[in-house]
This record gives sequence, structure tokens and C-alpha cells, in this order.
Amino acid sequence: MAHSVLDFSSFSALSAEETHLIETSVAQYGAPLLLLDCDTVRSQYRALKAALPDVTLHFALKPLPHPAVVRALLDEGASFDLATSGEVDLVASQGVPAENTIHTHPIKRDIDIRDALAYGCQVFVVDNMNELEKFIPYRDEAEVLIRLSFRNAEAFADLSKKFGCSSESAIKMMTRAQELGIRIKGLSFHVGSQTTNPNKYVEAIHACRAVMEEAIELGLPALSTLDIGGGFPVSYCSKVTPIKEFCRPINAALATLPETVQVLAEPGRFIVAPAVMSVASVMGQAEREGETWYYLDDGVYGSFSGLMFDHGDYPIMAIKQGERFPSVLAGPTCDSIDVVAEHIMLPKLENGDLIVTRVMGAYTSATATDFNFFKRAQTVVLNDMVADQRMIG
Ligand SMILES: *Cc1c(COP(=O)(O)O)cnc(C)c1O
Repeated sequence: MAHSVLDFSSFSALSAEETHLIETSVAQYGAPLLLLDCDTVRSQYRALKAALPDVTLHFALKPLPHPAVVRALLDEGASFDLATSGEVDLVASQGVPAENTIHTHPIKRDIDIRDALAYGCQVFVVDNMNELEKFIPYRDEAEVLIRLSFRNAEAFADLSKKFGCSSESAIKMMTRAQELGIRIKGLSFHVGSQTTNPNKYVEAIHACRAVMEEAIELGLPALSTLDIGGGFPVSYCSKVTPIKEFCRPINAALATLPETVQVLAEPGRFIVAPAVMSVASVMGQAEREGETWYYLDDGVYGSFSGLMFDHGDYPIMAIKQGERFPSVLAGPTCDSIDVVAEHIMLPKLENGDLIVTRVMGAYTSATATDFNFFKRAQTVVLNDMVADQRMIG
């Protein structure tokens, strides 16, 4: 495996190697860019795998649905978590075996179910009776996980507001599924994205164990699977607990489950967030109320969309060194909300100077738009499986 010259997850100043890579990439492709390092994707996957040794990791594509990420993870032996037919198409195009996938969108159209089944994915998620009944025609092929909800106000995205059901509803659905001849494989939950307190998982695991025990007491078929979802945190400007330590109480809770229960997880952010660095360049500047405003060629409607959709607090820096002054970084569009950072300390920049941001892999380009016809940043893929050291893609 090629050794990465980058340390995208560090918060230190840019190394000479990083600066060289950034400058030569911009010279070759122009700005704005996203530098995606597949070796960081691999090392993040390995770190989580080592922290959760008995858990099958299904990478959730949504934070960074890029073919090079799929290739790197497939090569590492990862499994995948799909939510749409577009995501089915992406993994299928990269040769992911369907038996290594699950489909976890709790609300699906019939065509979504049929597309996934046609590919060969056979595990789905439901959280309500209406959805369960959609599986009557597919009961011979499909198996179902029931998603429970546990509210989490601290997470970046409290995914249990929109999805998931109570323990009581889960039992009712299991009873109904038995009548309908639909196989319930197990339970799932998602504690919320960027959950910084592992006790959220611990509480959810214990609640799921209680549902599994109740099902057995009621004479329902035993559940074979628990899917503990995504949500594993990464350090942005604020640091989080290292993953090994973070997962220790989760492993302890999982050890209380019957040995027959197979455990899955659906990490998204943790795998890809530190694998991307964004590079924008200064298009123009103005003095406003004692601060210099620098107008970049990437902004809130582009790679920095996570400032709106993901509470992003990304480490932003200039390549140039020197005495620093309070400054504003704005995006290129004509909209006044398109401001990336206010009162940020930066050296005096010239037009064309570069602004670099770390930890830009999750929920950034995935939610970018073409608003005002400003083109999205191009992705430069580093250490890809199939291509040169560096390619645009
Ligand atoms: C978004 C999502 C994930 C990934 O969550 P992260 O917080 O990025 O780890 C996993 N599973 C489902 C069902 C999701 O919607």
C-alpha cells in the first residue's frame, strides 16, 4: 500500500509535502479542489474495525458517495449501507457483492425495494406498519430490521426525530410480521450523527436487548441481528474521544447480548471526514468595517454546505504565513448568507492565494449545489486503487 504523504486529520500547520501537493494540484487543475486521500479512508476503516472487532462495518455512502471510496473500502473487505437506487447503482458499478450490502432507508417506494432486490440486496429496514406491509410481495426474498428510535439532542443530526419507532411498536410489528410471513432479522437504531457520548449507544443496545428478550418470552422468532447504526464522531476544531476509547463501553454493552446475535454498524462520517481537504482560492477582496473580506471561489453553496446542513466547524487555514488580522471569508455567490468564516485571523492575502480546510470529507461535496452557476469543486483522488497516484474524478 502506498504511504500517504498527507496527514489530513491533523490540526497542525500544513507540512511542506502537503503544501507542495496542494500547489501542484491547483497548478494542474485550477481551484476550487477537493483532495480525497484513499489511504486515509483505509486507515479510518481499519481504526474503526480495530475498535469494534466483532462488528461488521457497512459504510453508509451518503456522506461521500464517491467511486474511489467504494473501491478502497471494498479492497479492505468492508460491507456497505445503501439508502437509494442511486447508491445501489454506485456500489454495483464498482463490483460490490450484493450479499455485503443492506438497505436501510426506513421509507421506500416499491421501485426502491425492487431495484435493491434485483441487485441482490436482501436486508431492509422498516419502522412502521405501513412500511412492513410493503414487504408482503417480497417475503420470500427479503429480511427486515426494525429501526427503534432513541432521541439525542446533542448529536449534529438527531436522526431519531424523523425515523424509528418505540419498543412497543417494534413488538407489534414483529407480531404482525409473523402473521404475514415476513422474516424479521433483527433491530437497528441510529443514535445521531457525530454523537460524542458513547453512552447513547450503550443505552440503545440495552433497550434493544430488552426488546429481544421480550420477543422470546412472547414466542416470536428469535432475532439474529443488531445494527448499531452510524454516528461515530471525528475531531473537527473541537476534539473528540479517540475511537478506541470511545468504543470500549459500546463493546462492553454488546458483550451482554446473546452470542447468537450478529452485530452490524453503518459508519459514514467516521470513515470519510478526515480523508478530504478542500482548497479554495481568493477571487477578490474588500475592506468592510475594519476587516478584510476575501471572496473565495468555493462557499456555503458549494463544498462548505456542511456549514448549513451539518453544523460544520472545519479547521480553515491559509497557506501564506505572516502577521495575522481579523478577516472574513465569503463564498462566491451573490447571496449574503454565503459566508464561510467571520473574524478569522489570517495574513494579508492576495488574489489567487489559497485557503485550505481539513476534515472536509463528510456531508460537504455531497450536499453542494450549482447555485449561481458556480461550478462545484473538482475532486482530485490520491492513492486510488485503479489509477495513477493522482487523478481527477
Ligand atoms: C446517514 C446515515 C448513516 C451514517 O451516519 P454517520 O453519522 O455519518 O455515521 C448511517 N445509517 C443511516 C440509516 C443513515 O441515514
